[in-house]
Amino acid sequence: MKLLLHICCAPCSIMCIKKLREDNIDVDGYFYNPNIHPYMEYRARKDTLRNYSEYINLKVIYNDVYGLDEFVKNVSNNIKGRCNYCYTDRLLETAKYAKENGYDAFCTCMLYSIYQDHDKIKEVCEKISKELGIDFYYYDFRPYYKEGQEEARRLKLYMQKYCGCVFSEEERYEKRIERERIKEEIDKEWQKYKKDNNIEDIKESE
Ligand code: SF4
Repeated sequence: MKLLLHICCAPCSIMCIKKLREDNIDVDGYFYNPNIHPYMEYRARKDTLRNYSEYINLKVIYNDVYGLDEFVKNVSNNIKGRCNYCYTDRLLETAKYAKENGYDAFCTCMLYSIYQDHDKIKEVCEKISKELGIDFYYYDFRPYYKEGQEEARRLKLYMQKYCGCVFSEEERYEKRIERERIKEEIDKEWQKYKKDNNIEDIKESE
């Protein structure tokens, strides 16, 4: 079987390609990720894939679109629900290319990530498969997540710290921002309590 695999980044592709090749599937990669921002992050992920694919002798087709404007325009009305648009856009492009270029099926290495909405990705792929009339090859790569991460570290591949879009970059810091905000509030309350109750700071003895 000739399969087109949507690839979001090199680390996520390691185990997908390994497993598909073990099943004697002829895999090509397809890089189309206009959801990755800012530009230097996009370049880092693309260049890492270029180097890695040469290393494992994988053909990759680059649909090279840095799409900050378009992406933000399309998700601005529903930022919380943006992943649905993001999955659909990337997988639709992949499936179209697969259909127009003689592949038997398409798949995505987003099915490897334990941080993605696996069921939603599967659902989007199945819908696209029906609409375009090309097979979706489902594979749950998540059991190999740890192994893939270890291999990426061993190969010293660039490993991103967030999913891709500017909003996910912000979410990466959300917990820290919230912790700092709570700490500031507690400090403020404590200062007020001390003032109201004439409590002086304990001075360290010299
Ligand atoms: S969080 Fe990830 S999947 Fe969701 S919209 Fe952002 S880049 Fe796409």
